[in-house]
Amino acid sequence: MKITVAKGDGIGPEVMDAVLDIFVAAKVPLEYDLVAMGKQVALAGDVTGISEAARRSVESTGILFKGPMETPKGGGYKSVNVTARKLWGTFANKRVFRTLPDVPTAVRTRNLYLTMVRENIEDTYGAVEHMQTHDVAQCRRFITRPGSEQVHRYTFEMAARKGARRVTCAHKANIMKLTDGLFLEAFYDVAKDYPQIQADDVIVDALAMRLVLAPEDFDVVVLPNLQGDILTDLAAGLVGGLAYAPSANIGDGICIFEAVHGTAPDIVGQDLANPTALLLSGTMMLRHLGLVEHAAAIEQALDVTLRAMHRRPDLAQPVPPFRTGRFVQTMLEALRASRPSAAEAKPPRFAPRNEPVMRVTEPTPPTALAGVDVFLESSLAPAALAEQLKPLAGPLSLTMISNRGTQVWPSGSPHTDCINHYRVRFEASGATTQQALVALLGRTAERFPLCGAEWLRIIDGARGYSLAQGQAEGSA
Ligand code: NAD
Repeated sequence: MKITVAKGDGIGPEVMDAVLDIFVAAKVPLEYDLVAMGKQVALAGDVTGISEAARRSVESTGILFKGPMETPKGGGYKSVNVTARKLWGTFANKRVFRTLPDVPTAVRTRNLYLTMVRENIEDTYGAVEHMQTHDVAQCRRFITRPGSEQVHRYTFEMAARKGARRVTCAHKANIMKLTDGLFLEAFYDVAKDYPQIQADDVIVDALAMRLVLAPEDFDVVVLPNLQGDILTDLAAGLVGGLAYAPSANIGDGICIFEAVHGTAPDIVGQDLANPTALLLSGTMMLRHLGLVEHAAAIEQALDVTLRAMHRRPDLAQPVPPFRTGRFVQTMLEALRASRPSAAEAKPPRFAPRNEPVMRVTEPTPPTALAGVDVFLESSLAPAALAEQLKPLAGPLSLTMISNRGTQVWPSGSPHTDCINHYRVRFEASGATTQQALVALLGRTAERFPLCGAEWLRIIDGARGYSLAQGQAEGSA
């Protein structure tokens, strides 16, 4: 069976070469199609960082085994890693944190075996960003019901397969009641299909503390994308650092296996790169392909190797510094003692596609329009702005003005500092129409620079928009 391999940037080629040497020593029955992806492809003009040959290869093998790829900070091309995950619909990012023999950790963890699943393609990672005024940048955050259900179902299926007794959903639904609220609602909807597994939830900041104090309390945790990104790095710290954190990006068809860490520019070419995280991502891939015995043999050899790497030669001497070369040599020696497995790879179930799948909730519940939030630029104080806006409302009413999410009109505090970017809310007494709202936008645009607008929807009888901080329920 053939898989696609991209070595990546920075320490990527060093750790990937080490892992492929170990695979050969373990007689892993795979062939590798080496493709170009990452910085060089992006700098050569293909801003996705994914060459045409790489795209064809991944879409035919269904498996990408990749090294880390560099992303410029601030400007420049977008993250090739994120592009790959989104392009190939890998909606779940599974990360496993296991206490490894003799690996030093700052926080004492005993026999930790924690699995975290990070939603992988939604949230702020769409990087849908706009400057709204000179002073205001905006990032749109999309959380969808089908996307949330997909990652939760994968999590429960995986938990059931591994015999987990508990799945915990981390979120910030106390603050982001609609977006994180939807993620949490979908979690409990899916949990109903797995009555044998205990389902509960935790607010993400409390999770951060509890992971440090008592990580063994958790078994499987599922999180939205950005919160998952941060908390999984925290979990990596519990088992010794990023060099020990593997991951699998799971999709319906294509799956991507990669280490959690980046390109480690500070240690490139110095024989310091630790291949453990990529090697463990590789054993996740081997299990995914049914090569369970090969994966187990490599992990046994890894335990032996890590013990040897972290052992003090005698009590008077320190542990010798980590060396990539010594790691690979010790792995190869440890594998010599293992018996080769005759198992063959099971190619992933993977149907070729001609067009994207539409994931829509059916039947679509009834939706009505109740008004519009208009985002506009103005340096007027709130009361003066309200006086200018009221005559523009037409059949609707101006009900609220907020600044940075805090209500500043009809009531507010003189201690709420404002910037030149307001949300002004116009509401109808009953249902209204798109045409009425577009006409209102036209009138408002005659007087103010508009930065955007959001319809206020009533979906299935429930308010589909948030209240401003300080705005009372039913104040409209
Ligand atoms: P990083 O993970 O590359 O490095 C953080 C620290 O961990 C560094 O001190 C580094 O030396 C150390 N480290 C990481 N992996 C190691 C390993 N295998 N062995 C020994 N030490 C290791 O994070 P960063 O410095 O924030 O990012 C560098 C680049 O990598 C950026 O361009 C970033 O966008 C990219 N990145 C890519 C991925 C990916 O490909 N999936 C993930 C994270 C960051």
